[in-house]
Amino acid sequence: MNNRKTVKDYIRTIVDFPHEGILFRDVTTLFADPRGFRMAVDQMLHPYAGQRIDKVVGLEARGFILGGAVAHQLGTGFVPIRKKGKLPGAVISEEYQLEYGEAVVEVHDDAIAPGETVLLVDDLLATGGTAEAGIKLVERLGGEIVGCAFVVDLPELGGRKRLEKMGMDVHALCD
Ligand code: AMP
Repeated sequence: MNNRKTVKDYIRTIVDFPHEGILFRDVTTLFADPRGFRMAVDQMLHPYAGQRIDKVVGLEARGFILGGAVAHQLGTGFVPIRKKGKLPGAVISEEYQLEYGEAVVEVHDDAIAPGETVLLVDDLLATGGTAEAGIKLVERLGGEIVGCAFVVDLPELGGRKRLEKMGMDVHALCD
């Protein structure tokens, strides 16, 4: 029976976190299960096997856990995109809109060389604002995004359409 479990079956939903009305899709239960975690990582990189990927870029914070494992499996380097003020070296920044207010994400300005191919990884795609900011950072450094991989897509929030409009290949394991 356990063999038939899909990635979605390992994800827990927490009601009203971090605010009332939000259904928080908690992937820590997926990460904690050896079979679930391996399945998620394998499925995330599957469409990109055989393609040239120079760097995996992970979005803070759950994108680090997935992205590190994906990079290890692909044999590539890993680059973190972090919230403002966390990276120690020289950075470039992108501001984006949240439901209430703005946020800023940053990447080291020497983390990606012009012409390098990049796979962007995060746990969940909602409005696409976070991923769009990450894409802009990579492209400002001259990187070329091969794909954007997520565990969960929430299609009603429009993130996939938003990224596809930017010409991105969007890959999600479940919605
Ligand atoms: P967005 O920028 O709207 O696409 O939001 C995506 C980011 O917010 C990801 O880094 C997710 O981890 C987090 N996020 C947004 N909505 C949820 C949700 N319902 N459950 C879990 N994480 C979420």
